[in-house]
Amino acid sequence: MAREPGYKELPIGGLILEAGNAIRYKTGGWRTYRPQVDKDTCIECLQCWLLCPDCCIYAENEKMEGYDYDHCKGCAICAKICPAKCIRMILETDPRGMADERGRYHSKSKNSSSVIDSKR
Ligand code: SF4
Ligand code: SF4
Repeated sequence: MAREPGYKELPIGGLILEAGNAIRYKTGGWRTYRPQVDKDTCIECLQCWLLCPDCCIYAENEKMEGYDYDHCKGCAICAKICPAKCIRMILETDPRGMADERGRYHSKSKNSSSVIDSKR
């Protein structure tokens, strides 16, 4: 096991001196609520991608492709600003498991067994 630095070895004030190192720390464990996106009603405006303070939203080929749950803190800014109201925030302990590993689900799928509350 790697040795943890003692307090005398830490930067004064706990400052982060090395820019861009946040990717190395899986801080998603801080989250109480997790976002999920209904891809049937998402209009691909990418406002969530622009405004997420932790850059936790995947965008590929100009489409919103779900969440980086290793780093999403569950702040709900994406859900608040989404003009299509297609992002819901659910408790981490919520058993609704129809979303994929990136938090995407399809509310209009005939195979869906859950009722989607996208206003939540
Ligand atoms: S803000 Fe809402 S509608 Fe726009 S890309 Fe994100 S999830 Fe889709
Ligand atoms: S809940 Fe907050 S941190 Fe997570 S994806 Fe949305 S805006 Fe980003």
